[in-house]
Amino acid sequence: MPRYDLHCHSTFSDGLLPPAAVVARAAARGVDVLALTDHDEVSGLGAARAAAAEADIELVCGAELSVSWGDQMLHVIALAIDPDNAVLAAGLETIREGRASRARRIGEALAAAGIDGAYEGAMKYVTSERLVSRTHFARYLVESGYARETKDVFKRYLSRGKPGYVRKAWASLSQAVGWIHAAGGQAAIAHPGRYDLSGSDLRRLLGEFRDLGGDALEVVSSSHTPAQCSEFATYAKTFALRGSCGSDWHGPGESWMDFGEVPEMPPGVVPVWKGW
Ligand code: AMP
Ligand code: MN
Ligand code: MN
Ligand code: MN
Repeated sequence: MPRYDLHCHSTFSDGLLPPAAVVARAAARGVDVLALTDHDEVSGLGAARAAAAEADIELVCGAELSVSWGDQMLHVIALAIDPDNAVLAAGLETIREGRASRARRIGEALAAAGIDGAYEGAMKYVTSERLVSRTHFARYLVESGYARETKDVFKRYLSRGKPGYVRKAWASLSQAVGWIHAAGGQAAIAHPGRYDLSGSDLRRLLGEFRDLGGDALEVVSSSHTPAQCSEFATYAKTFALRGSCGSDWHGPGESWMDFGEVPEMPPGVVPVWKGW
């Protein structure tokens, strides 16, 4: 049974390693099929594909799209996309444009909370110069001694309700699914265990997603407990969604699990890769 990891990041979004190093690490740790899924960005896929051809690993072209659903921010994973598709490229460009202005507002909000220079500091960590995220602010705040690790920065400064949180409208769920399908790909709701949703809201989300033609649910994520993996397996079956799995790896020391450590898909779930 090949080992699939369909969610990870490189320096083209908020990961710490360039695409070729991400691919090499996944191959060395026993992954057979890897999707690189940078936030709102496909520009790292060329280098990832070239590296995969050199290593014993298959690369799936992916991305992780930022979506607003009501007042929630969701992530939708795009899998097996054509990265050159113009509809998807234009959609991703609109999401990225909004990120630059949000970053300036996050800098202002942190300054109002007594933390100066955060925008400039975060930009030092933006490697591709195409995508700035809260992760880059988190790294700068750790460097500056405001917290011991990035997870603490999110808890204290960058999550909803905290001083550095800035609201922003991302793509709609229907836009995200439409762009992914236009690029020939499959859409999966990422890490459902990480949203602040009641059971009834989650069911409403999954029903809406399926009605829009959404394909899969990320049943297995490094951020899920074993009990959550079983729970989301049941949701996938109930809503006739396929199952996806991934480490959501960002870099050494920054992620819940490394490549090769992600549990297997629970039995009875149709995997998103069936038919690839
Ligand atoms: P953004 O897309 O700019 O809103 O940033 C979201 C990114 O921040 C996610 O992709 C994660 O990499 C990271 N992130 C979000 N919440 C947390 C958290 N609680 N702890 C660590 N990283 C987080
Ligand atoms: Mn991230
Ligand atoms: Mn995510
Ligand atoms: Mn991710």
